Amino acid sequence: MRALVIKRPGEAAIENVAEPGPDPEKVLLRVRMVGLCGSDLNSYRGRNPMVQFPRIPGHEIAATIVEANSSLPGLVPGTNVTMSPYSSCGKCASCQRGRPNACLSNETLGVQRNGALTEFITMPPEKLYAAPLTIKELCLVEPLTVGFHAVSRARVSSQDIVAVIGCGGVGLGAIAASHFAGAGTIAIDVDDQKLQIARKAGAAHALNSVTAPLHKRLLELTDGRGPDVIIEAVGHPQTFRAAVEEVAFTGRVVYIGYAKEPVDYETKLFVQKELDILGSRNALPVDFRTVIQMLREKKFPVEDAVGSIVSLEEAPAILQTWSANPSKFTKIMVQLG
Ligand SMILES: [Zn+2]
Ligand SMILES: [Zn+2]
Repeated sequence: MRALVIKRPGEAAIENVAEPGPDPEKVLLRVRMVGLCGSDLNSYRGRNPMVQFPRIPGHEIAATIVEANSSLPGLVPGTNVTMSPYSSCGKCASCQRGRPNACLSNETLGVQRNGALTEFITMPPEKLYAAPLTIKELCLVEPLTVGFHAVSRARVSSQDIVAVIGCGGVGLGAIAASHFAGAGTIAIDVDDQKLQIARKAGAAHALNSVTAPLHKRLLELTDGRGPDVIIEAVGHPQTFRAAVEEVAFTGRVVYIGYAKEPVDYETKLFVQKELDILGSRNALPVDFRTVIQMLREKKFPVEDAVGSIVSLEEAPAILQTWSANPSKFTKIMVQLG
């Protein structure tokens, strides 16, 4: 079968690889569509130390069941599914606390092990989510779960005003999640086009931090208190600091990305404001179910959020173009069948 293989940093090609062998514990799936995100771009560029080459990327997946153990209700051949690309050990502190999303020895498809940019894969049935969604919607579930998990970490309710810094794929998920939880939602970015999509995803206010005075506008929108929750989805030292500076007293800050360099903080703000500062990693099954529910209710601008759809054969070339112009692309999806 064909697969997209990243052979070494900056070089990808379509190659023939072995089909997955029979496994009674797993479900055989035909891959229909795979989304690419910033982490795939990092892998392609050789900037993710967890990726060894050659590697087949692909962790945002829509697929159709070809063959399943007949004792699995709902998972019959022909069913369209999406899936969780993470693994968990069951033994580490995170797993034992019921938070396998932060497993010490997590292996993500396409990162520590081969992913789904190929014709067939096998997956354990408990990782699959069947849902009456289109293939494109199923393919958007996993990237949206990351922002949904961040909103769940912040215990967002309809009483809150939530500001999301960064409206890329992950930030957009956080905006949709915050709105879906009934909170007043403020989107912050430097790109007006991304802010426009953020509005369609549920942001009541969109602030361009280059052209608007951010601090002043945030106070105006929150009765002078600052947002109850700030979710950082950029990964720059400056936005890491802005989150603790702008959040309200006794507010919650959630970090999804990580800054590539150390961040200097005015640590007295942590104490004076008595902040909850939280990390958010990957997503839990409940986040997958919430995203699916939101997509079923047609509350997400799917068409606006997907920039281009290419074939598997076109994927090596688009990776190269994307790597040369990262800011020119919104979500890329690869259609396999
Ligand atoms: Zn992704
Ligand atoms: Zn674990």
